Order: sequence, then structure tokens, then C-alpha cells
Amino acid sequence: MLQFRVFPGGKRRIVTFSYDDGSRNDVRLIELFNKYGVKGTFHLNSRVFDDKNEDERRAFIDRYRGHEIACHTVHHGWPTRMPASTLIAETMDDRRALERYAGYPVVGMSYPSGDYDDRVISALSACGIVYSRTTKETFGFGFPDDWLAWHPTCHHRDAEAPTAEFLSTLDSEWKRPLLYIWGHSHEFKTEEDWAKQEKLVASLAGHEQIWYATNIEIYNYCEATRRVVVSADEKTLCNPSALDVWVERDKKEVFVIPAGKTVALP
Ligand SMILES: [Zn+2]
Repeated sequence: MLQFRVFPGGKRRIVTFSYDDGSRNDVRLIELFNKYGVKGTFHLNSRVFDDKNEDERRAFIDRYRGHEIACHTVHHGWPTRMPASTLIAETMDDRRALERYAGYPVVGMSYPSGDYDDRVISALSACGIVYSRTTKETFGFGFPDDWLAWHPTCHHRDAEAPTAEFLSTLDSEWKRPLLYIWGHSHEFKTEEDWAKQEKLVASLAGHEQIWYATNIEIYNYCEATRRVVVSADEKTLCNPSALDVWVERDKKEVFVIPAGKTVALP
């Protein structure tokens, strides 16, 4: 029996962070993430470009290198209260503004104020958005049923218990692999707040079982696993995607199927 429940590098767990609104505290948060080797996704409102010149805009985006930047609409309105045409403009204009400096397609998103419904999801889907995070805490560790309603594990203020639970299972057989922590860096107001966040990040860092990934890396990897074509006898696997994919056989052997290759398993 084959199962796609192994992640890049043969790892069994994933940790991701997601921070909204692009406050100046992001700079310090990124330093913290870099110090501990964890990855984050930063959901940005391109209205922040309004009072910036070309060089300042480039510098603003450059501070996020090594992490992902994603949409959060231009003006941070309420998506369910907007005409569909306004929501589409708010999303596409945000994409265009961010992509101009990002150098890659910006197709991730989080809902401003966590506000969405089915109509919002279909509008975003038409805008090429492939995932969007909500603000609904699950306190669970599974992948989303719908990438356009991606509920995080928890907000960072509530992360202590879920993090302890997640870490306690690192070496056990377990089906739910993903710890997803979200928040706003402007919520770190005091040195005490920063110390608490550093303690959280440090506790999650440096574990060989964990893949530290941005939101889009998780989405892309999961999509790549779904594209693998498997022969009826489960011996020949074709990976047509541009990402290496790991597969597990009989809950013990792990094989890598390189990007763009067809592989015969022993
Ligand atoms: Zn926001």
C-alpha cells in the first residue's frame, strides 16, 4: 500500500506560520524566524505602497525574501460586504502590486478579518488564488478540506497547548502532520510579548522530523502528490510535477520520486 504522507526530505511533520497586515514589526519577526530556521507567509495589503516610491516599495518586499508574500486585498475591507467586481479588483490589484516586486506569482491569500463565504471563494478562485487562510482556529493538525477555507491550528496567543501536543507526538505514528500558527506582528507590543514569541518559535525549531515551510510550499507539495500517476501494481510511479515527491510503502519504506521522472520501485 502506497501513501503520500511523507514530506520533503522524508519528514513526517510540518510547521508553518502566517502573519497578516504587513506591520513594521514584520522585520523583527522575520529576523526571529531566520534565527531559528522556520518559515512564514506574510499576507500584505498593497495600500502600504501609496506613500512609497519605487525603491521603498522594492525594499519593503525585499524584507520578506526567503519567506512567502501573499494577498490580503489592497484596502482590507470586508470581502462579504463588497460587490463581486470590487472584491475581484481588490484582489487582482493586490496581486499585481505585490508581483511587480516579488518576482513570482502571488496566488496565496488570507481573508481580511477572516471574512468569507461561498460567493467570496468563487470570486477568489476566478482571480487565480489557490489557497486562502481563515481566522477560525481548529486546534487540530490536519490539512484543509478546502484550500480556499484553510483554517489554522491556532492564533499565536493560543499556541502553547497545541504546540506542546504537536511536539509530544513527533516520534509517534500519527496521521495529522501540520501545525499552523497565525497572527499579526503588530500584536507584539512589549519585550515580554516578543520573548513569549521567541520561546514558541525556539521550541518548534531544529527538529529533524519537521519540514519548515511557507503556506504555498505546503499547497504546492500536496498538489504535486495528487498528480503522481501510479501503475496498477504500484511499482511504477510517474511524477509529472516540478517538485520531488516522497511516497511511503507499507508504512515502512520511503521512496523519492524526482520531479518530472518515472521511477520503478524495487
Ligand atoms: Zn488583516
